[in-house]
Amino acid sequence: MKLDIVSPMEWGFFTLPRPCVIAGPCSAESLDQCLTTAAGLKKIGINMFRAGVWKPRTHPGGFEGYGVPALKWLQAVKKEHGMKVSCEVASAQHVFECVKHGVDMVWIGARTTANPFLMQEIAEALEGTDLPVLVKNPVNPDVDLWIGALERLNRCGVRKLGAIHRGVSSSQKLKYRNDPAWEMAIELRRRIPELPIFVDPSHMGGSTEYIQDLSQRALDLGFEGLMIESHCNPACALSDAKQQLTPDQLWEILLGDNKLVVRDNDTDNLVYKENMTQLRAKIDVLDDNILLLLAQRMAVSKTIGQFKKENNIAILQAGRWDALLERMIRKGEEIGLDADFVRDIYVTIHEASVNVQNKVLEEK
Ligand code: PEP
Ligand code: MN
Repeated sequence: MKLDIVSPMEWGFFTLPRPCVIAGPCSAESLDQCLTTAAGLKKIGINMFRAGVWKPRTHPGGFEGYGVPALKWLQAVKKEHGMKVSCEVASAQHVFECVKHGVDMVWIGARTTANPFLMQEIAEALEGTDLPVLVKNPVNPDVDLWIGALERLNRCGVRKLGAIHRGVSSSQKLKYRNDPAWEMAIELRRRIPELPIFVDPSHMGGSTEYIQDLSQRALDLGFEGLMIESHCNPACALSDAKQQLTPDQLWEILLGDNKLVVRDNDTDNLVYKENMTQLRAKIDVLDDNILLLLAQRMAVSKTIGQFKKENNIAILQAGRWDALLERMIRKGEEIGLDADFVRDIYVTIHEASVNVQNKVLEEK
């Protein structure tokens, strides 16, 4: 997949290559809150201010943002502090209002990305505006839905395009607000390597205590930017109070003693390159062996399936599967493999085995 896009370095407001940082409150709450927060952010070198004006809420009756009047507060941030401003859009009407009020960049929220009708409407409203647009991943772990939204925008001429990874909803109880699901962002990078990816550790983690680690992970994975919620007085925030940093706390993370480490994507160091070539060759050989073993294992599984069929035995013997999984997790732990990792692998392998045996059973 190839998109026709322009690098963020040419969008006109990100000055340093990595990370590009977007910061600001979850919601624009008042002129004073916007100006005070922006002053703090400007002081620590942030150029792009974010603030939600229309807030998608799970339940009716919550704080849904101040709408169009709040766009005037963003205009004030531009005027007073010379910053660029961005907000979320979820309809064509929102886009028209943003353009009218001089908003410099917009983003699509996770709930909107999941809706192709809305995405098409928004894409058509953006046609001819030259506004940069960032698209959050949908709330469900569906990379195609994410790419579809990006494609719709690109086909309508949006070339200043990027993605924001904010994790996905989960039915499991997690320490984070959303499951980080890094594999989704990694898959997006694989499918569209030229697309800049921002990470939103605020909505991913749901608490200020996780921002640093999640941001570091984003940089370690080589992603280009961060969108971080910051509020002049987080305790009094009207939305997402637990996850907003003060500008000073954000400074600590970006520039303090334990600041984020920015890693290069490549180097000219010959020793490094030589070592990497050798190590990657080793990995390739191991991967070939893994694949070969898997093929052999599947062949045995198929033979077992044939035996079961001839003897009229059901495919699944719960006791056997349980014992196998337990044995592999225990053995894995003995040689330093994480139990969850081993479980995930064997659940996948077992599923494939059951499928193969099912096919045998269905054959005439
Ligand atoms: C937001 O960025 O304010 C927001 C609502 O985030 P998300 O769409 O990721 O939930
Ligand atoms: Mn928020």
